[in-house]
Amino acid sequence: MSENEYLTLDEIYELAFEKLINAGADEHNASILSKTIKHAERDGSISHGLFRLPAYINSLKSGKINPTARPELSHITPSLIRVDAQSGLAPTAHALVIPELAKAAQTNGVAVAAINRCVHMAALWPEVEAIADHNLAGLACTNYLPFVAPVGATKAFFGTNPIAFAWPRPGKNHVVYDMATAAMAMGEVQVAARDGHEVPEGTGLDATGQLTKDPKKIVDGGVLLPFGGHKGYGLSLMVELLTAGLIGETFSDETKDKDIGDGGPPIGGQFLLALSPEVIAIDNWQEHCDEFFNRLSGLPGKDLRLPGERRYKNRLSNEPREINSDLLKTIKDL
Ligand code: NDP
Repeated sequence: MSENEYLTLDEIYELAFEKLINAGADEHNASILSKTIKHAERDGSISHGLFRLPAYINSLKSGKINPTARPELSHITPSLIRVDAQSGLAPTAHALVIPELAKAAQTNGVAVAAINRCVHMAALWPEVEAIADHNLAGLACTNYLPFVAPVGATKAFFGTNPIAFAWPRPGKNHVVYDMATAAMAMGEVQVAARDGHEVPEGTGLDATGQLTKDPKKIVDGGVLLPFGGHKGYGLSLMVELLTAGLIGETFSDETKDKDIGDGGPPIGGQFLLALSPEVIAIDNWQEHCDEFFNRLSGLPGKDLRLPGERRYKNRLSNEPREINSDLLKTIKDL
């Protein structure tokens, strides 16, 4: 592996934008996705930054991703919004729906957005942070292609099925939790395989159904496992039901049957929930929660931190970001 290179955040944006435009995306979609990629690199979510660009490009070139999608939004009830993403990128759908979702939650206390036919291969914190920017709690989940075997099985059936949650803290950083229900996100396993690191026991099985710490054996014909045994299994099942059963989209195993196998992200659904503490809580919810967070942060122990803090800390730096040189070569050759 050759030495890594350093790119400024603007260079990361420009590189992604140029490659997406060359692959047929229009300026609207290319600029939204390039911003998502830049923000992932800015926050140190490297498995969802430039690392994902080749797969997006594959699916733009294969015609699976609609390069000029303009998602269509309809209000089903005052607190339920449906978005048909038109086989386009999830971040483009978010840009349209989150302001509407926020208005509905601020009026009704609670609002749901059911996003159909979208391509979601990014981290989920951008959408829940955007919901929290409206002073709302946000919950998001999405399914994917089957990569994860339910507890007791050796065949993949669930996506890595992430769940993200943000709690608004006006004037401060929101508290944001964003995690795969797999023991490790597939992107992280791919990065470990690329960089030659072992993964912890319990991350996945090899092609013969045996536990392995070798990420290459998980990526090549193996399966991931849910985190925390039956508990992660239950949450992953919940994500399938919210993002497919509830919103009339495909379950991860059905998505695989429909996918054209171009190596890029599939087309599926996303569930978004917004809750207004202003409407639902007793008075002084902010002070009440701040006191709670203060008690939490004051607990004894030297490694305690709030979820999301690592990313917010990374965000403060304007320094160029280190990019894997092999990845950069792959992208430049695209
Ligand atoms: P991690 O295990 O790295 O982190 C999960 C969460 O735990 C983060 O919110 C993180 O906050 C928090 N956290 C980590 N360590 C601590 C700690 N010591 N104390 C408090 N909080 C902590 O994430 P995953 O590997 O599970 O997922 C990575 C990404 O992959 C996610 O962004 C997810 O959305 C994405 N993904 C996307 C998929 C898709 O289909 N679009 C599929 C699967 C995953 P912090 O960020 O501050 O470290």
